[in-house]
Amino acid sequence: MNRFRTAVILAAGLGWAGFAGARLPDDPPACDLATIASLDYCPGCQIPVEKEALNKKGEHVDCETRPVKADFCLKTFHLCAACGARAEGPGKCATCKTNLVPQVAKSKIVYRCKNCAGRSDQPKACDQEGCEGKGKPYAKTCADSGAPPHVRKK
Ligand SMILES: [Zn+2]
Ligand SMILES: [Zn+2]
Ligand SMILES: [Zn+2]
Ligand SMILES: [Zn+2]
Repeated sequence: MNRFRTAVILAAGLGWAGFAGARLPDDPPACDLATIASLDYCPGCQIPVEKEALNKKGEHVDCETRPVKADFCLKTFHLCAACGARAEGPGKCATCKTNLVPQVAKSKIVYRCKNCAGRSDQPKACDQEGCEGKGKPYAKTCADSGAPPHVRKK
C-alpha cells in the first residue's frame, strides 16, 4: 500500500471541509516520468497491448477492440523469477541468489489535481467546486506514481 493513494482515499472520505488547504505529502516522491513512450493501448481492457496480442484485423484478440496510441511511463526494474522478489538494479536476488531478470513496468500517463482526487486521461484544469486547485491545470503524472519502481530516482 502506498501512502500517496492512502492520502487520496482518506481525503475523499473527510469531505471538502476536512481537506481544505491540505496538501498531499510528497512522500513517497512522485514518479519522475524519466522515460515516456507512445504504446498501443486497448481502451476496452485498459492495458497496453503487444503486437502479438492483435488479430489479423489489428484488434486486441481478447475483446476485439482496436487499440489506440497512448503515452506510458516506462520504468525498468529487476525481478527474481524464482521467488518473485523485486530489485532496482541488476545482479542476483538478495533472498535466493537467482539471477534477476530485467522487466519494464508500464504505467499510463494521467493528469491529476494536486489538491483534490480529480484525475483525467487528458490534460485539463480542475473544475471541482471548493477545490483550492480549481481552474489550475492538472499535473502530469503516471497512474502508478509513488509506487516503486514509479518513483523519483535518487
Ligand atoms: Zn482488449
Ligand atoms: Zn529470489
Ligand atoms: Zn481539484
Ligand atoms: Zn512512472
